[in-house]
Amino acid sequence: MTETQPNPPGDKHYVAKVLERKDLSEDLWLVRVDPGGPFKFVAGQYATLGVDHNGKRIERAYSIVSSPYEDGLEFFIELVPQGDLTPHLYKLHPGDTLLCRKISKGRFTLDLKSGRTNHLLLATVTGLAPFVSYVRTLYKDWKAGNSPMPGNHKLFCIQGGSRSWEFGYREEMEKFAAEVPWFKYVSTISRPWEDETEHGGKLPRNFAARGLAERKHVRGSLFPAAERRLSENILAQN
Ligand SMILES: Cc1cc2nc3c(=O)[nH]c(=O)nc-3n(C[C@H](O)[C@H](O)[C@H](O)COP(=O)(O)OP(=O)(O)OC[C@H]3O[C@@H](n4cnc5c(N)ncnc54)[C@H](O)[C@@H]3O)c2cc1C
Repeated sequence: MTETQPNPPGDKHYVAKVLERKDLSEDLWLVRVDPGGPFKFVAGQYATLGVDHNGKRIERAYSIVSSPYEDGLEFFIELVPQGDLTPHLYKLHPGDTLLCRKISKGRFTLDLKSGRTNHLLLATVTGLAPFVSYVRTLYKDWKAGNSPMPGNHKLFCIQGGSRSWEFGYREEMEKFAAEVPWFKYVSTISRPWEDETEHGGKLPRNFAARGLAERKHVRGSLFPAAERRLSENILAQN
């Protein structure tokens, strides 16, 4: 018999609690977590989540979707059926607990200081997470009028997926893009034949070429195979 029971969390971990969960498909879900104590981070960083299983602590990195301005930490997770951790995380529902390291990590933050102002943000599916955090944070600052944004900075975001239901934040990103002058967002799918939506795998003509032409600074979070597929898809349409 296997057991997922927390050992004492120790100095480095909080006992976190699941607050909300939204399933997008059978292997993708969004989850909001109370980290269980003070947790500082900057948009683009990640948290380390884990469980204790059969006396062994299993931990993995997860990019934080939420903005530091929000209560709780939000994550966008894909189930890896044979994986060590995600099958355990997948079983968690509101009220259930997990472990969260007390310290955030990562340097995948938005560079607003180097002087480079065009930011091409490329992601497949859950890779969008840090970019949602950038945009939510910048939007809040922009609305409050105390931001280094917009300045001359522009964010061009392209998200690839196999089918449209994998885009957990598409509506939110499209809403930001419609409202602010400094953010553009396009989603594209690689299996339109499995998906009868209005998107049909099409990128607006020359979108990527325009973004790349203006590019001085690239932030990407694609796995190489996905990046190649997305590039092929873009090239085929331009
Ligand atoms: C900085 C950082 C941020 C991350 N942010 C996120 C995030 O926001 N959301 C998220 O879902 N994951 C994210 N990951 C990946 C995450 O840390 C785990 O690797 C992933 O959840 C798989 O964990 P696992 O223990 O279930 O699988 P493992 O036991 O680690 O992996 C089992 C096998 O599956 C392969 N594998 C791992 N991930 C995938 C995948 N997605 N698809 C197919 N095969 C895979 C591995 O290469 C390995 O061969 C991030 C990783 C890093 C380094």
